[in-house]
Amino acid sequence: DPVKHVIGQTKVLAIINQKGGVGKSTTAINLSAALGEMGKQVLLIDLDPQGNSSSGLGIEKSQVEHCVYDVLLNQTPVEDVIIPDICEGLDVIPATINLAGAEVELVSEMARENRLKDAVGSLRGKYDFIFIDCPPSLGLLTVNALVAADKLLIPIQCEFYALEGVTKLLDSMKRVKGLLNPSLDIYGVLLTMYDGRTTLSRQVVDEVRSYFGKTVFETLIPRTVKLSEAPSYGLPITQYDPTGKGAQSYIDLAKEVILRG
Ligand code: ADP
Repeated sequence: DPVKHVIGQTKVLAIINQKGGVGKSTTAINLSAALGEMGKQVLLIDLDPQGNSSSGLGIEKSQVEHCVYDVLLNQTPVEDVIIPDICEGLDVIPATINLAGAEVELVSEMARENRLKDAVGSLRGKYDFIFIDCPPSLGLLTVNALVAADKLLIPIQCEFYALEGVTKLLDSMKRVKGLLNPSLDIYGVLLTMYDGRTTLSRQVVDEVRSYFGKTVFETLIPRTVKLSEAPSYGLPITQYDPTGKGAQSYIDLAKEVILRG
């Protein structure tokens, strides 16, 4: 299908929230896979030392020779660390535990904030979407993602204190925007682990929508057991439970992402 391979402008989106456990990796895996299945060419860069989006796609971390660490600190060419065709339309740059050291080692390096941007720059034009799954902190790895990204995709979990820490994230975004990446902005806010039976979930949706306005995606990602099981099988939800509501939600999100352009 030739249409599949027409690549327009590459969109580089950082999936970011310095809170852990809000659905960053789940979204990185399942949104990337859904877009790949829709015929898009997608690269997922796992920038979280825990490597959950790598292992969730069935990549055996102990078998990975080079990871994103080597691109950031060993001048390994980015092409050499890409694992192609993990799923239909989806390539991955994996993380290993080595990456945990990068946060410290980058501190003494020159042009340390630009490492990922330079690597990603050489891949523009080859993919429709490049997603960066960020670690749960606002350290130098996350700063690298903020410098490399065109826009931010912010998952927010439907729970108490959903918006806690968001101001800090937005401050970091503004600082990087002012100094290093003038066009940086929010691409979309995604509500995750939504449970329509609880008043709390519905209140959080209202609260987040009134705070962020139209940037919030219409699609709500439901809390489902299948979404939490899929990573242990190394499969995206569209393969693990293709007809379930978790898969449907990430397909809906992928459509919104394509329409948002
Ligand atoms: P983060 O990357 O922000 O740390 P994860 O995507 O790893 O967050 O999600 C945290 C935990 O919640 C994981 O165990 C994951 O399987 C689970 N989880 C994420 N999204 C959902 C969901 N929509 N429904 C049920 N469990 C989910």
